[in-house]
Amino acid sequence: MPNNTQPRFSAIQTVISRKPKSVEPPKDEKGNSQKISDFYGVNTFGLKQMKQKLPNDINKRFIQTIQSGKKLDLEVANVVAHAVKEWALEHGVTHYCHWFQPQTGTTAEKHDSFLTLDSSGSPIERFSGSQLIQSEPDASSFPSGGMRTTFEARGYTAWDPTSPMYISESGSTRTLCIPSVFISYHGDALDEKTGVLRSNQVLSERACKLLHLIGDHDAKAVTTTLGLEQEYFLIDRALYALRPDLVMSGRSLLGARPPKGQQLEDHYFGSIPPRVLAFMSEVEFELFKLGVPTKTRHNEVAPMQFECAPIFEETNVAVDHNHVLMEVFRRIARKHDFEVLFHEKPFAGVNGSGKHNNWSLMVSQGGPEIEGINLLDPGKTPHQNLRFLLILMSTLKGVHKHAGLLRAAIASSGNDHRLGANEAPPAIISMFLGNMLDNMLNEIEKDAHKDLHYTDAVIKLGVGNLPTVMKDNTDRNRTSPFAFTGNKFEFRAVGASASCALPVTFLNCAVADGIEEITTMLEEKMKTSKSKEEAIFLVVKEVIKETKNIRFEGNNYADQWVKEAEKRGLPHLKTTPEALHQIISEKSKKLLTGLGVFSEGEITSRFHIRIETYNKRVLIEADCLQTMVETQVLPAAYEYSTMLAEGVSSAKSIGLQAPQAEPLAKLYQVIGSAQTELKKLERSLDQVKGIENEEERAKKIASDLKPLMDSVRADCDKLENMVADNFWPLPKYREMLMLS
Ligand code: ADP
Ligand code: MG
Repeated sequence: MPNNTQPRFSAIQTVISRKPKSVEPPKDEKGNSQKISDFYGVNTFGLKQMKQKLPNDINKRFIQTIQSGKKLDLEVANVVAHAVKEWALEHGVTHYCHWFQPQTGTTAEKHDSFLTLDSSGSPIERFSGSQLIQSEPDASSFPSGGMRTTFEARGYTAWDPTSPMYISESGSTRTLCIPSVFISYHGDALDEKTGVLRSNQVLSERACKLLHLIGDHDAKAVTTTLGLEQEYFLIDRALYALRPDLVMSGRSLLGARPPKGQQLEDHYFGSIPPRVLAFMSEVEFELFKLGVPTKTRHNEVAPMQFECAPIFEETNVAVDHNHVLMEVFRRIARKHDFEVLFHEKPFAGVNGSGKHNNWSLMVSQGGPEIEGINLLDPGKTPHQNLRFLLILMSTLKGVHKHAGLLRAAIASSGNDHRLGANEAPPAIISMFLGNMLDNMLNEIEKDAHKDLHYTDAVIKLGVGNLPTVMKDNTDRNRTSPFAFTGNKFEFRAVGASASCALPVTFLNCAVADGIEEITTMLEEKMKTSKSKEEAIFLVVKEVIKETKNIRFEGNNYADQWVKEAEKRGLPHLKTTPEALHQIISEKSKKLLTGLGVFSEGEITSRFHIRIETYNKRVLIEADCLQTMVETQVLPAAYEYSTMLAEGVSSAKSIGLQAPQAEPLAKLYQVIGSAQTELKKLERSLDQVKGIENEEERAKKIASDLKPLMDSVRADCDKLENMVADNFWPLPKYREMLMLS
């Protein structure tokens, strides 16, 4: 066996001899296993801990501050800081950090210890309100997209009291994490969280105004709710370590598809492999301790692909918790000798991974009649259902008007491989409502009911008794990028590795705009209509007509849909660079600045950061591919071809015709082609790297470099199927996906 394949075969031996790790729930003092509810949230400074640790009046003032979104006063902050320090010290914590989300897609933290020296030089643990509220990390190396000039490279992190502080555990190290926003000296948002908070605020104001107009005067605040279904792959670390592409870019840049591959759908919802189940259990114990309410776990479509989903939470907290979840996954996976892949398409020809954003609106403060009501849940009375229809129409209107912006929100080099790749929603934003609602809207749209008294029409059309009908009729359309699922929308096109902050920020903004326009329409109609119901009905009817183009009930994977959508004039932005330009369109700028969510500068910086990230990621991939082909694929092919050639010449030497001659000729041909394509790739890489302007560079990457990567890959994958197995150094798809 050639030396270079030894590591691959030993890794396979390692994988097949692994046993599941034993995992047990946390124990109480007597050594008995605890129930989930016993240890849920022990590592968060949540409501329960605050009640225990804070004086009553401070606790009340603190909760009021959170609910009102007002600034925290220093007196309260000082008491909270003291209490959280005491709580943290009891839990063996030594350091604290402001935990924030720079626009790198992940999170950042800088740790400080509680240690101070008092005036006599004696060590003491101290933590003040101002340390809790604000910190100044060295911000110059985080992306700012031009927002910070170097002479004022300062950025501040500021505590977001609406997301609970928590203790992160890594080995025996415990750190108090303080969820924070990250802003520049002038208050510009340098992070992902600030947009979520601002958009929640403005959406709440707009929604309350609409609710008041239709008579729900008690509504005081509306929050968005979010439940994030997370898909991921697990790969054994022994095999992972032998794949430079997985290590560098999270996806396989090479690899012949297994003959069965995608057909192996018996994996879906099948029994979970024992090693994976052990991993999942430990992840869940960790998440429960952190107050992350993960709920379901199951196999996904592809082998070694899985999904988990939490109980939904307020959007800001849900986004934070998803980051925490991904961090915990990475950490625990290694303990179980796995590496977790959140990439949208780690394996070509195999199902990709998404992060479905289940999103809704809930009245979070108000009178008993309205508080806690999910506004996308049809109710029991015509009033409730007309309200539901108005919110539904607002969402339709917002998504219809700002489909391009929502497409931009989900754009990334990873998601480009998934969207439109035949098992994921296409890069076209459309909305699915389900048969029953779709029919109802079509009925309302028809003028047939013109003569009916509007309240009668409401009943005749089934608006009066939606809930019972809806429950039985929430049919599923798994192909839609944005589907109504009974009492929420599911934005499915978001990629598995993405932070959901920008997608929900833009979605909130789009819907806030829809709500505002509908409010204005309704104010007008109310002046001339006989009743409120009639006015609502007329508005609904108009919006149905206006937004009809965005509704699609059919199969989004079908080629006809792409044609049809283009005919309808829906944006079809296939690549990330194209899609990202939607962020800086006049329409988007007007929306975002108009709502006060982002300034012009914040908008363009977001655009630039994303373009640069796209460029960086693809260039890393291309460099990695080049190295792998040069140092692994071609050498294996040369070695094997030498062996064949030796066979041919020894056959010749005894006057026989060598059967190796034919495969050898074919092999030479593919090697030749791979070399040619590789040269083209190298030239293109040089050219792209020479382009200074990032937008120009992105265009060239999408138009030239990426297709060349595909053609290099095609030859390499052919070689994988030609070169004798024991000459091939890279773990193969079947080994990575089917042995654990
Ligand atoms: P599915 O049938 O698609 O699995 P589920 O009812 O299990 O649907 O919900 C999937 C996700 O949607 C879960 O994370 C769940 O918490 C979330 N979800 C349910 N209701 C809401 C809501 N009102 N707002 C936001 N997310 C919700
Ligand atoms: Mg789903």
